[in-house]
This record gives sequence, C-alpha cells and structure tokens, in this order.
Amino acid sequence: MHYDVIILGAGASGLFCAFTAAQRGRRVLVLERANKVGKKILMSGGGRCNFTNYSIEPNNFISSNCHFCKASLKRYSQWDFLSLVERYDIAFEERQYGQLFCLNSARDILNMLLTECENAGVDIRTNCQVSDVKAVEGAEDEGARFKLSAGKQSFTCQSLVVATGGLSIPTLGGSGDGYLLAEQFGLTLKPRQAGLVPFMFSDAMKGVCERLSGLALPVAVSCNEQQFHADMLFTHRGMSGPAMLQISNYWNPGDALTIDFLPDDDAVEWLLQEKQRSPKSLLRSVLGQRLSKSLTLELQNLLWTERGQTVMAEISDRDLRRVGESLNAFEVKPSATEGYRTAEVTRGGVDTDGLSSKTLEAKTQPGLYFIGEVVDVTGWLGGFNFQWAWSSGYSAGLHA
Ligand SMILES: Cc1cc2nc3c(=O)[nH]c(=O)nc-3n(C[C@H](O)[C@H](O)[C@H](O)COP(=O)(O)OP(=O)(O)OC[C@H]3O[C@@H](n4cnc5c(N)ncnc54)[C@H](O)[C@@H]3O)c2cc1C
Repeated sequence: MHYDVIILGAGASGLFCAFTAAQRGRRVLVLERANKVGKKILMSGGGRCNFTNYSIEPNNFISSNCHFCKASLKRYSQWDFLSLVERYDIAFEERQYGQLFCLNSARDILNMLLTECENAGVDIRTNCQVSDVKAVEGAEDEGARFKLSAGKQSFTCQSLVVATGGLSIPTLGGSGDGYLLAEQFGLTLKPRQAGLVPFMFSDAMKGVCERLSGLALPVAVSCNEQQFHADMLFTHRGMSGPAMLQISNYWNPGDALTIDFLPDDDAVEWLLQEKQRSPKSLLRSVLGQRLSKSLTLELQNLLWTERGQTVMAEISDRDLRRVGESLNAFEVKPSATEGYRTAEVTRGGVDTDGLSSKTLEAKTQPGLYFIGEVVDVTGWLGGFNFQWAWSSGYSAGLHA
C-alpha cells in the first residue's frame, strides 16, 4: 500500500501534521500503536486541555539549540491555533499566566483535529505496531523512499513523519520508538529526562512533606539561574504543584532547589521590624501572620528550634537575620523526581542539529521528519508543549 506521507503516532503533533499535509493534496496515512488516538490530549489539563498560551516566546522552551523552535512557532503561532479553535466554536477560558483551557472538555480539541483529518481525507489506523522501517535504496525522488512493516501488512511512502511523542506516562502512549528510529537513521539524541514532574526526598524533607501533605502556598523557586513564581504543593511523596513542575525542567540530579517562602517580602527586614513592633511575640506567631501554622511549626523545627519559646525581643538580630535569609532562600535537595510514571513531558530527544528548523526534515535522510515531543524541544507548563506540537506538525505538514 503506497501513501505520499505516513505518520507514526496519532497524538497532538501527528494529527496536526496529517491534515496539514492532506490539505495540500497529499495522500496521508497515520499509524497509531495504541487502541485509541489522542490519549494525552484527552487527559491533558485535568481533562480541559491547556491547548496554548496567549504569550508564547522562544524562552518558554528548553532545547540544546534555543533558536530551533523559532521558525515553527512563527509560521504557526498561538493566534493561528486560536482562530482554528474559534472557527469550531470551542468554548475556552483564560486562566493564570495566559493559559488557555477548554471550558467543556479536551475532547473538543481532539474532535476538531479529527474533523480536520476527515475533511482532508486522512486515513487513520489504530492498533498498528510497526515492526520494521527501512529506507529504500536508490528510490526516485517521487517514489517510495521508505518501506514499513506492520504485522502482515507492508506500506511504502515518500515521506515518513515520526510523531511518537516522549517517554512520559507509558499508559498514555509514551514510547521510545521515535528515539530508536532516529538512531537507526544516524541521528543523535540528547540525553532524556523526565520533565514537568514532582520531586521526591530521602532526607529530613521526606517527613516534612508527608506531614504537610495537601498544603499549597505561593512561592518563588529557583534552580540553575531559572526562577518561577507559582504555587507549590506538599504531597506525601514530596513536592509538586506548578512551581515545582516548572522548575523540574531545569533540575538535574544532585542540584538543590532554593525556595522563597515569602516571595513578596524581604524577610530579614520584616522580622527586624516585627521585633520592634511585637517584642513579646514568639517568632512562630509573627510568621503565622504570613504562613500556615503547620508550615511555621516545621520551619521552627528546622531553623530556630532552640528559640522556640523565646520572645522576639530576646532573639538577637543576627539570629533573626539568619532565619529571615533562610525563609527567602530555603535550600532543599531532592533525591529524585517521580520519573516518567507521572512526568508530563520528556526533556531532550532527537538532536535539533540533525533537523531543518524550517521543515523538521532530517538533514541526512531526505523524506524523514521528526515532530512534537520526540524532538529536543520542551515547553514550560502552560500550553507550550501543545503549541510546539501544533507548530512543528504544521511545519512538517507543509513539506512532507
Ligand atoms: C497527563 C498529561 C497532561 C498534559 N497536559 C498538557 C497541557 O494541558 N498542555 C500542554 O501543552 N501539554 C500538556 N501535556 C504534554 C502534551 O500532552 C505533550 O507534549 C504532547 O501530547 C506531545 O505531542 P506529540 O504528538 O509529540 O506526542 P503524543 O501526543 O504523546 O502522541 C504520540 C502518539 O504516538 C503513539 N505512538 C508511540 N509509539 C508509536 C509507534 N511506534 N507507532 C505508532 N504510534 C506510536 C502514541 O500512542 C501516541 O498516540 C500533558 C502531558 C501529560 C502526560
């Protein structure tokens, strides 16, 4: 069976690429390994799919080449996706930081992609495990450059698009197949790591997190010169919430995180003022004005346990300074992340050096394309990863 374009993976980028190519008159087949298409789209954003963001900039993406994503994001922007969403009358809302979510269900987005595919005449097959992909030696430009085997069937195509996603959440389709294909065709890989993922601890913080499990608060968290202001959440396994997921994209094993529990205040200055204002109060009562009682007690155990019953007037300025500095820059050292089981994305992947930033085609293998999460481009939390899937899918769809 011959197609102009075969796409491996019926996820966000694969479906987008499929109808873009088919709208150009290309005969397109999408092969999906799972029993259903778009599983991650349906689970995304708590079932409401954070499909893009009002503010998309290249610095919202992590890649060994920070310029690589620019061409695709420019050619198909958040405004282009938004006008598609509006054309389908999909109700959406803006949440914090420009994040756009469906008002009803993520299924609205998947249905929109599938309708576009159907209207453009895309063929989609599920439960299709491709066992072998070969480049056909000496193929003519217009001919069958690739041969694929899936069970007893074989397919040929001129362009092959790898849209198999990353390793995160295997039950939602996460697979390493795209990376194997990249290696098979001589492309290099950047080291992969779980991204947008909660942290775990094996030191004293483990117990602290368990005891504070369920508590959320606004913080600023920093690591490797990157900082995020957002909510963090203590869980019985460690630390999660948007602030922690965001910073996890910049964390490497062994790194410490610096948490500012009072991101809007200079804690040293504030505590010294409070010493004058409330000399008879305990430090934990003063701190209780800004932080929850349970967190204050845990911080007391860690930072000023020997001054627990001492009134502010009797705590030296030096000690207050030390506590204040720790409140603004509290260091924790995660032992690990929760890994691909719960990660929203995979960092790293197919090295962008081997791909054209305009077309996503492999430089050394004409007709072979890599799009979406399998590529070494990872977005922040907030709709950036889907925008990369739409934009890279579009770029490849215009050329494949
Ligand atoms: C729980 C969760 C929530 C998320 N929420 C958001 C959000 O709200 N906003 C956001 O921007 N991002 C979100 N993300 C990230 C986003 O889902 C991904 O970045 C995006 O789906 C990547 O698109 P993709 O097409 O590259 O891969 P995917 O959408 O993962 O699609 C890959 C497809 O390829 C299939 N496949 C794998 N191997 C093969 C093979 N060998 N042959 C054929 N098919 C194969 C898979 O089954 C899958 O259907 C979330 C991720 C998770 C896990």
